[in-house]
Amino acid sequence: MEKSINLKIESITQKAMYGSFQKHLQDEIASIREAGLYKNERNIVSPQTAEITLEGGGKALNFCANNYLGLADNPRLIKAAEKAMENRGYGMSSVRFICGTQDIHKELEKAVSDYFKTEDTILYAACFDANGGVFEPLFSSEDAIISDSLNHASIIDGVRLCKAQRFRYANADMADLEEKLKEAQSCRFRIIVTDGVFSMDGNVAPMDRICDLAEKYDALVMVDESHSAGVVGPTGHGVAEQFGCYGRIDIFTGTLGKAFGGAVGGFTTGRKEIIEMLRQRSRPYLFSNSIPPMIAGAALETFKILSESNALHDRLAENVTYFREKMLSAGFDIKPTQSAICAVMLYDAKLSQEFAARMAEEGIFVTGFYYPVVPKGQARIRVQLSAAHRREHLDKAVAAFIKVGKELKVIA
Ligand SMILES: *Cc1c(COP(=O)(O)O)cnc(C)c1O
Repeated sequence: MEKSINLKIESITQKAMYGSFQKHLQDEIASIREAGLYKNERNIVSPQTAEITLEGGGKALNFCANNYLGLADNPRLIKAAEKAMENRGYGMSSVRFICGTQDIHKELEKAVSDYFKTEDTILYAACFDANGGVFEPLFSSEDAIISDSLNHASIIDGVRLCKAQRFRYANADMADLEEKLKEAQSCRFRIIVTDGVFSMDGNVAPMDRICDLAEKYDALVMVDESHSAGVVGPTGHGVAEQFGCYGRIDIFTGTLGKAFGGAVGGFTTGRKEIIEMLRQRSRPYLFSNSIPPMIAGAALETFKILSESNALHDRLAENVTYFREKMLSAGFDIKPTQSAICAVMLYDAKLSQEFAARMAEEGIFVTGFYYPVVPKGQARIRVQLSAAHRREHLDKAVAAFIKVGKELKVIA
């Protein structure tokens, strides 16, 4: 049996057509490697948390996860997931509108609406799907989508799937946004689309000014809260809380894969007719499976935890302030941020890779980014803080930064 399977695989790989395609892929992959853009994965054998265990037994402090509130290994979420699985089973084997909606899916939609103070919510398998499925059902060729140039890939893809006219404004640049709004004035409807927090600089979109312009030029507003929900605002409720913009933002999208527990799942939340239309026409909702009961159950527990106390957000905010202050006083060049993303500027691409590699040797996982992920000459190390980090973790990370920074002559 085994032999015949092997034979079959060999005969497939020997097909002439694959031979030329294989060569093409090998060349492309080689060029990705040569450009230094090849992505290697680290195999973790522990739960996701501040201190992780790697295959082979090594330990590392993790400063590159989106686990902002430290909920990824929270015992209450694990229990809630187990309980939901016991009571509601493992999977749904259906899309929502055929036979894939349970009571807990509706309860979760309500919990998300309550959290964001919106009218209704629709769940997706991921925020990538929420963004992929939000534009096409709502807008057509008579309309305009005005998108920040640093918006997430899933927004860019979602916009591509829609026939609306596309306008792009420079990152968080309100003068440029106003220009684009003027250009789009003849369109039937206009929508401004922005990330709440931009993942490379950690800067927060100026929602108050975006909403002012939206009102001046009669546009709708959409914000992707993936990196901002649970993080920005006095109690972490995102950009509407931060800028006092409740009622002025029409559509929020977000993920359950970052601050809210870090598993999978996404949502669009906002005005009720918008959500109602998405339930009728949004393709990733109509043609993709319901999120499993354990995710719905655990996510419900997440919102329960966040409604009971602000302790996790408070700890995150404390950690961000502590880390930034220590790094600034050590002489590092840090982008200003109100989020949990801290960009340590190195400017040089090669240095950023060397720095990240040396940090890993010191047992600290951070990510080095350079062109084309960030603009040319803007290479940096991105540090992501979490409520899971304890003071000793932060001190170790800062000490490693200082050691490597001196070694590589980044600081004196
Ligand atoms: C992470 C992220 C997403 C994707 O979220 P998933 O739920 O993992 O698909 C979408 N938008 C932004 C801004 C993100 O940061």
